[in-house]
Amino acid sequence: MLAEAIAVNTDAPVNNSEAKIWDNAHVMRTYARQPVEFVRGEGVYLYDASGKPYLDLLAGIAVCAVGHCHPYLTCALQQQSATLLHVSNLYLTEPQARLARRLVELSDFERAFFCNSGAEANEAAIKIARKYGRGIRESKTNIVTALKSFHGRTLAAITATGQPKYSENFAPLPGGFQYVPFNDVEALKAVVNEDTCAILLEPIQGEGGIHPASMEYLRTARELADHHGSLLIFDEVQTGVGRTGKLWAYQQYGVIPDVMTLAKGLGGGVPIGACLARGAAAETFVPGDHGSTFAGNPLATTAALAVLDILADENLTENARRVGAYLTSRLGELQQKFPALIGGVRGMGLMLGVEVFQSAARKIVAGALDNGLIINATGDDTIRLVPPLTLAEADVDRAIELLEKTLASLRM
Ligand SMILES: *Cc1c(COP(=O)(O)O)cnc(C)c1O
Repeated sequence: MLAEAIAVNTDAPVNNSEAKIWDNAHVMRTYARQPVEFVRGEGVYLYDASGKPYLDLLAGIAVCAVGHCHPYLTCALQQQSATLLHVSNLYLTEPQARLARRLVELSDFERAFFCNSGAEANEAAIKIARKYGRGIRESKTNIVTALKSFHGRTLAAITATGQPKYSENFAPLPGGFQYVPFNDVEALKAVVNEDTCAILLEPIQGEGGIHPASMEYLRTARELADHHGSLLIFDEVQTGVGRTGKLWAYQQYGVIPDVMTLAKGLGGGVPIGACLARGAAAETFVPGDHGSTFAGNPLATTAALAVLDILADENLTENARRVGAYLTSRLGELQQKFPALIGGVRGMGLMLGVEVFQSAARKIVAGALDNGLIINATGDDTIRLVPPLTLAEADVDRAIELLEKTLASLRM
């Protein structure tokens, strides 16, 4: 009977309008959906039910780091799902231990806590910071974060997020968070003190519009944390796993945080997050302090191991650096051709933000989608490009063609 159901599912014609009706009626309205339904992905392309290809420069929001349906990742998932999916964290499973060892070998950290998302990784980091601080002094509980940051959607994460629009409808919020303007060294110096348990920063603000921290800013954050006995936490949920042209963005700055949070690209599309820590921060949690039923299960950790294998085997971190530089230079040509619409490019590797004039970002995103190009707007003034790290220079040429066609049709 189950075999029959599987056969029926695979053969069923995809009916766009039916799914749309169900979605409208029965899925909570947390997303304003783009007018397209994808049914399949391969490499850097997604396909709708009519078979129309879309070149994907968004990668599920920096998630599909190795592209869609990479055969090695698919095979690893097929094998693991036929072997063992889940047993809970009451028992040891090899893939989780292997992933922790791999992440530690590839970074400057000593231990990992696994979870299922970026927000959860930050929750873990926030709980570590609070327990660490209170262990020193009861008043050492303040967490300093940046304005225009984004740290996720749980209550603590929206409170850490320095953008009131994410939290104002959900008060009362957890206390003990302080906000500073990003990249303002003096403001950071003014607020961090002995009651600061942690400074939490994105090395490159992603949702806030692709704004890299300055070298001086992150170095100052490290010095202040050391001076006041606070933890330095980097939220690398978006910047981590090769995206910026180094495996971790902190390596771009030569500043090693005490805690680093990961998610998005780590599982290549399978939900997994991680909170990595070193020193005292790595030893703060003891049994009973924190946990998650699904976290680090054999399927999710196998996915992350496969992603890390592919990254190394295909030199994708180096590819992000090289193709990112090429994409940046080709976008510079577009800026010359459309100076009234397109400004400068910010970011590193394959995490790029294109400045857009006349608040046209959403209009450009919609036009590009029609033309078979997936890009994304963070606000009205920035186009965000976070493509698969497998992107090739020929894909960039195609993307620029499609973007040029889109911009020409806007005639602004
Ligand atoms: C996306 C993102 C998050 C939240 O991750 P979720 O998996 O959506 O919970 C947190 N921090 C940063 C920097 C992000 O880009």
